[in-house]
Amino acid sequence: MESERARLHLETRLVHGDGPQPEGSRPTLPPLHLTTAFDFDSAERMEAVFAQQADDHYYSRMSNPTVEALERRITETLGAAGTVALASGMTAITVGLLNMLQSGDEVIASPYLFGGTYTLFTRVLSRLGIVTHFADPADPAAWEARIGPKTKALFMEAIANPAVVVPDFSVFQAIARRHGIPLVVDATLLTPYLYDAEAMGADLLMFSASKFLAGSASTISGLVVETGRFPWHDSPRFDFSQQKKAGQGAYLARLRKQMMSAIGPALSPFSAYLLLTGMETLPLRLEKQCDNTERVASFLREHPKVESVNYPGLPGHPAHEVTRRQFRGRFGSLLSFTLSGKAACFRFINALRLILRSANLGDTRTILLHPASTIYSTLWKHEQEETGVTDDLIRLSLGVEHPEDILADLEQALRAA
Ligand SMILES: *Cc1c(COP(=O)(O)O)cnc(C)c1O
Repeated sequence: MESERARLHLETRLVHGDGPQPEGSRPTLPPLHLTTAFDFDSAERMEAVFAQQADDHYYSRMSNPTVEALERRITETLGAAGTVALASGMTAITVGLLNMLQSGDEVIASPYLFGGTYTLFTRVLSRLGIVTHFADPADPAAWEARIGPKTKALFMEAIANPAVVVPDFSVFQAIARRHGIPLVVDATLLTPYLYDAEAMGADLLMFSASKFLAGSASTISGLVVETGRFPWHDSPRFDFSQQKKAGQGAYLARLRKQMMSAIGPALSPFSAYLLLTGMETLPLRLEKQCDNTERVASFLREHPKVESVNYPGLPGHPAHEVTRRQFRGRFGSLLSFTLSGKAACFRFINALRLILRSANLGDTRTILLHPASTIYSTLWKHEQEETGVTDDLIRLSLGVEHPEDILADLEQALRAA
């Protein structure tokens, strides 16, 4: 039965749940266990659970059956070793990094980052004595030159938001392998659907599941995924000796036992339920969103008021071939473009009638914003420039509407730009 399921396509597995189920009748959707705690049959059983001799659920800060069902679904979808679901994408990135870093450690990261992640590296981890060196993914030699004995992670976004930069993962997985350093990738913009394990070779994946998974952007959530490639338990760069028993699973064992307990970043079971059910239509939505984005990118490139378009789906984009090879032949559903300046951007944004002005992406609705005056407004000018954010830049996330309606709204609003 299991091997039969493994042969099914992802779209089929997503709507056919978790395999063998009880005889008789059963719910078609996973049950929602909206409970804080669990009642035990006996004191002995409780003792066994707390001594880690049994792994029943006991308190939803640590684990919960609905959250676990989501974690299993993600692990299976990605062909990974394990997943922990967390309260937000930023929680996943923060907790995922704190689980492996300590004071004195160094990270090499792409500067093309989501605003919260850039702030985490430059304002938060820096206060804890963790140093981040930024290096452009277009210059892998600069990354390699930065590697030292304290380097604990290479960090980048699969498709960087909002600069829409795509690193060549064949190069970065080789560097990571050569130096025995984990390759940590924020794969939010790929979603589990466009992720290709072989092409990317990531050791840890982090996702903001607030984007795309639930579909209609109903809930904040995040995921840390261990792909099972990195030997955490016997890497000389890390000390996972307390998790020796977990062997290859040492990284997630520590995250579950220590971080979930001590920091309390648990995902609500209700959010897990929304993600599980919403995820059933992820492939369908994403195919449509990618189609819409390719069409809109071509339209914008030809428009006289648009100065440049960042989208790897456009032939001639420097990452066109690399992106096609890495992400299952698709190019994602986020693009950015520039107008003549901030004033033109604001006139354009204010003239929109259908497209939403919203600080989100990956919704079923098409949404856009001006990054410099919103999500990146707390950064210094030179930091904005480092992350690829300029005053004339607009970020656009395509939804599932009919493309003609999106194009008509862009067309009429660009007249005001
Ligand atoms: C939104 C986003 C995050 C943060 O996720 P939240 O769920 O909003 O905390 C991190 N990385 C990327 C690439 C994002 O787009």
